[in-house]
Amino acid sequence: MIFNLGSVNIDYVYAVPHLPQPGETLAAASMSVGLGGKGANMSVAIARAGGPVRHIGAVGPDGVWAKARLAGYGIDVDHVATVDVATGHAIINVDAQGENAIVIFPGANHEQSDRAIAAGLADAGAGDFLIFQNETNGREFAMTQALERGLQVIYVPAPYDEDPVKPLLPKADILVLNEVEFGQMIQATGRDVATLGIPTIVVTRGAQGAVLLEESSGWSERVFSAPKVAAIDTTGAGDTFAGYLAAGLEVGLSAEQSVERAVTAAALKVTRRGTAEAIPSLDEVQTFLGQEPTKGASSPQS
Ligand code: ATP
Repeated sequence: MIFNLGSVNIDYVYAVPHLPQPGETLAAASMSVGLGGKGANMSVAIARAGGPVRHIGAVGPDGVWAKARLAGYGIDVDHVATVDVATGHAIINVDAQGENAIVIFPGANHEQSDRAIAAGLADAGAGDFLIFQNETNGREFAMTQALERGLQVIYVPAPYDEDPVKPLLPKADILVLNEVEFGQMIQATGRDVATLGIPTIVVTRGAQGAVLLEESSGWSERVFSAPKVAAIDTTGAGDTFAGYLAAGLEVGLSAEQSVERAVTAAALKVTRRGTAEAIPSLDEVQTFLGQEPTKGASSPQS
């Protein structure tokens, strides 16, 4: 089982003629409401990859539909609490050129209680994984609990923010981050990969794919090219990658096999507009890779 301490956001997307200027009131030509948040996207990616996933998180009274949407993908949402604070949300203004300006309100994502996190991890044990990113509170507590219970910890330190990230880094078993975040981490810690104390680091490189850095009697580096695709929308590519990687490791694939799947799944995602609903199924990924489909990947029920 993969336990995902994860954000759930509602994305409010407004099509505007130009990005609002200070003091300006602007009418949007259209608006759409969708499920977002790095945590939610990762849970959907894990489910689409056929992996068992429990989402540990919180929504407000306005996010009950988001929880139901997650459940529709086959995600265990018993530990997604409903709290008395607005659901985390993003106000996304997109102008005619596709440029955007985003305001994020963390809301319920910052209302995780230690007690709720502990309850969500109560039946976790060796062989299970914890994955989390930086959009919720409670990360250090969850990591400590998970390590005590013998879980492997996958940390996606995004959005990158040096101070809260630093103490968590050396305790992670697997780190997944993009090139920019990797550069920030190396600069902030003043260390090279060999002295960070993390045995597996996966660096994503957009259209160029990903690099797997592994420590086992010395460091090895393996480069995975992304398939060449017509990129339409890269939103959620990193989350798709992280979810697929976790799902691969959870079923016992090697890090190499898991990264290969993750690179392919994320590349397929960028060929489609949207986020959660655009994440490909394991069948689609395996077909693309010329592999025999595995049974068990989930499709959304609504
Ligand atoms: P995002 O913030 O857009 O979700 P990210 O910055 O976290 O993404 P990236 O390194 O940009 O992460 O992309 C993650 C993965 O998505 C890559 O490793 C690759 O597999 C896939 N990907 C992204 N962009 C492209 C592209 N233009 N062509 C093919 N694959 C892509």
